[in-house]
Amino acid sequence: MSSPKEPSFRESVDIMFNRAVALMDLPPGLEEKVRVCNATYTVRFGVRLRGEIRTFTGYRSVHSEHMEPVKGGIRYALGVNQDEVEALAALMTYKCALVEAPFGGSKGGLCIDPREYEEHELELITRRFAYELAKRDMINPAQNVPAPDMGTGEREMAWIADQYQRMNTTDINGRACVTGKPLNAGGISGRVEATGRGVQYALREFFRYEEDKAKAGLSGTLEGKRVIVQGLGNVGYHAAKFLSEEDGALITGVIERDGALFREEGLDVEAVRNWIIKHGGVSGYPDANLIEDGAKLLEQDCDILIPAALEGVINLSNAKEIKAPLIIEAANGPVTSGADEILRNKGTVIIPDMYANAGGVTVSYFEWVKNLSHIRFGRMQRRQEEARHQLVVDQLEALSDSMGNTWNLEGSFKDKYLRGADELELVRSGLDDTMRIAYQSMREVWHSRDDVTDLRTAAYLVSIDKVARSYRAKGL
Ligand code: GLU
Repeated sequence: MSSPKEPSFRESVDIMFNRAVALMDLPPGLEEKVRVCNATYTVRFGVRLRGEIRTFTGYRSVHSEHMEPVKGGIRYALGVNQDEVEALAALMTYKCALVEAPFGGSKGGLCIDPREYEEHELELITRRFAYELAKRDMINPAQNVPAPDMGTGEREMAWIADQYQRMNTTDINGRACVTGKPLNAGGISGRVEATGRGVQYALREFFRYEEDKAKAGLSGTLEGKRVIVQGLGNVGYHAAKFLSEEDGALITGVIERDGALFREEGLDVEAVRNWIIKHGGVSGYPDANLIEDGAKLLEQDCDILIPAALEGVINLSNAKEIKAPLIIEAANGPVTSGADEILRNKGTVIIPDMYANAGGVTVSYFEWVKNLSHIRFGRMQRRQEEARHQLVVDQLEALSDSMGNTWNLEGSFKDKYLRGADELELVRSGLDDTMRIAYQSMREVWHSRDDVTDLRTAAYLVSIDKVARSYRAKGL
């Protein structure tokens, strides 16, 4: 896919880190301390499957423990390797710092193609992997809290949580050992949609600033903007769905494993998603043009490009051809350091991964807090809030003006005003606030320093500064 000159994923992250850190004035040696991965555990374990013992290789990498627990997903994919988990763990550190989620960075992975296994087999494998990690405190509510990533979801998180709890029967906070669980197993409303929702909130915030849009040669709102999404998995699907249904954006292209769909007037995201679930790919979808060499669509003219799948998809081999003036990195590391340079020189604006896809870990943070507090958000306040609003409505309606007319508030207003916020609304509000504040912290650096010409460098500067401050406060 990428040309031989391309560095590895971890090197690519390091190159971008170095570029940013060169603009900072850190105490000698701290720069290296922040950059390096503290530890990477490799576990190999056997599981008896289909009449034989199969050996699996998994990793859990801890990048920085300036705050604990450390946090980050567990990925199931055949390409998982040490370099990748280390790059992803480093990105978790910077991501958590940027959005002020009080965690260090970590990441895990298992070399497996989950589609090759039955559900009960995946359960055996996941429980065994969780056992190997938990006994080394690589899963622990106070030390290391995994979450879903590519190839994993609520189901795997429920198995991991249960496995941990079986091994730690008296840990009252056991449920907080992993996030992204199903609601009935200690999860939180809005976690599944969170990363895609965060991409939507990030774009909305970007579009609030004329100056920022102008840098990408864009104007107006998200309405009618042509968007191409690469990967219609959990993140890409939710981002595309919300942007088209709620902001009026046109999803003109969807790139998947077996090809890409293109439709100038916009695709029906829900229909495409259902087609993929039913047929295993986009081929044969009736209402769009199919492009067999799907990656070519990355180069198509559009307003916003959303890579939402693997790392390294925009690299030295195609960066020059990318026409989108705005790229939002919903995936981790979709643009290599070499491609980043080419795009920067072209004037492409990139909303970087560590900010753009931080919605997932942000809502994970809310879930972890919910688990530790043992109560659903809004449970104490909701009805009390409604009762107080009712008082205002009753009082207003009892008032009559000087002509003797009484006030009658409109029904739909009353319904909206009276309803107290439930957990989902609170989660979305917390996520929106987080995405806005983090964007503002990046753009401030972007606009106030002449030596910072892109959002990625700005993001690194904000987050490295936060990590460095914690190290300093600890006396390191
Ligand atoms: N795997 C997600 C990420 O890359 C979520 C991590 C989490 O929720 O801890 O950000």
